[in-house]
Amino acid sequence: MSEMSTTEQQMFGHPKGLFYLFFAELWERFSFYGMRALLTLYMVNEIFKALAERDAAAAAVYASYGSLVYASTVIGGRISDRILGMRSSIFLGGVLMAIGHFVLAIENDIAFFLALAFIVVGNGFFKPNISTFVGSLYEDGDRRKDSGFTIFYMGINIGGFIAPLLCGWLGQAYGWHYGFGLAGIGMLTGLIFFWSGIKKNVFGSKGLPPNTETYEKKVLGVPLKTFVPIIAFLCAPLIAFLLASYKSLGSEGSFLEGKNYVNLLFYLIGILVIAYLAYEIFRSQPSERKKLFMAVLITFFMTLFWGFHELSGSVITLFADRNVDLDGIMNASQTNSLNSLVIIILSIPISLLWAYLSKKKLNPRTPYKFGFGLVLTGLSFYVLSVSGGSANENGMVPFTYLLVMYFILSIGELFMSPVGLSKITDLSPKRIVAFMMGIWFLSSAYAFQIVGFISKQLAIESTDTNVGGLQTLSIYTDGFSLIAQYSVGAGLIVLLFSPLMKKLMGNVH
Ligand code: GLN
Repeated sequence: MSEMSTTEQQMFGHPKGLFYLFFAELWERFSFYGMRALLTLYMVNEIFKALAERDAAAAAVYASYGSLVYASTVIGGRISDRILGMRSSIFLGGVLMAIGHFVLAIENDIAFFLALAFIVVGNGFFKPNISTFVGSLYEDGDRRKDSGFTIFYMGINIGGFIAPLLCGWLGQAYGWHYGFGLAGIGMLTGLIFFWSGIKKNVFGSKGLPPNTETYEKKVLGVPLKTFVPIIAFLCAPLIAFLLASYKSLGSEGSFLEGKNYVNLLFYLIGILVIAYLAYEIFRSQPSERKKLFMAVLITFFMTLFWGFHELSGSVITLFADRNVDLDGIMNASQTNSLNSLVIIILSIPISLLWAYLSKKKLNPRTPYKFGFGLVLTGLSFYVLSVSGGSANENGMVPFTYLLVMYFILSIGELFMSPVGLSKITDLSPKRIVAFMMGIWFLSSAYAFQIVGFISKQLAIESTDTNVGGLQTLSIYTDGFSLIAQYSVGAGLIVLLFSPLMKKLMGNVH
């Protein structure tokens, strides 16, 4: 293979490889979000339809799936760094995800859990490595890197915008398996883009295994490059078992009142991670200590943010289905595209705003951005909480409320997510930067534990499949009002403490 440097192949002022990764990620996110748009409705209306507690069962599985799908990225990133390299990892992840989506197209309970498990393992290999691959296309200190990531984030959201519209329409109008099948085709398309990038040598020598000897090293007579994919495949049934443990452990009464194996696993991981971070903070130099502390703090608030934001695929989709007058504009699963639509429209203006404020030396410190982000998130839920006042006699609220809610929530996202992502790389000591990136993704994993908790509280119990309207309206709006209070409260606390942080942290922010 030629060793031609990627910097020799440019397109629109960026390494050409960026555009192949852009399309690969666009289609991967198409499959991820197309499937997510249908997931809760599919569980409530199909997989768990015979249960009175179907909402709670769906909430538990959605939370476990979400937690595992982000936690697996920590392992996938590590295996890529040590053994496979980014190319093979991305390829393996894409194949596993495509299998997952196609298995999901089989309407059957066992296939269902197995499919989710394949997506969990696949995402673990795909998601962290494609993001790192983007970073690796630029030399250290290359000023184009930030705009490269902005372009990449656009790709993510173009996928996130189109997929719920198409998969949601197919799934709800023609049958679930068509929607999931299309998600699978999306993933295959992503793989084709990635493959063609490799064939055209646009990545030069980037993304190859870190050490050929390790890559070829034999374990039980099989080289690691084959051994890892075999183990990855074998992990799927194990994860399917964890996901199927949505029934509570050791509780009486409602079979969903207790914890499941995934919850227990996350308690354990949480304790270990906190202990390790405390150790790292303790042993670092005073200058590093402040930075690391700040990185941990922003990751903590990010968890809270995603914990509210990721309700869009569960409670908010159910609310859209049961209580929003969609009036032929779109169906409930399609409303999942609204978040990405706003991100596509506003991400460039907001990043230009930060650049402009920076020039004027007025760019707010990170804690202020995070404080505002949480306040905005709270306001977005406040909008939904007051929507009940405009409900019609059937308990349906105007679509505008949902639209305004997503508009505000997405601005909150832009105040936090891209800012935090680049801050993590700045604030983490070099020796543990990859580990901190893993912790960053773990924040999304823990967020799903929050999602599970909230959506179980708001689960409707009924033996009637025809739930919705006035029956459910106040349950949801009261819940949204509480979320609004917590989020605004958390945001205000951050804002209140920001001046103190400035004193303590000096130029670290
Ligand atoms: N929406 C972004 C993506 O899909 C971020 C998701 C997350 O980290 N929870 O990549």
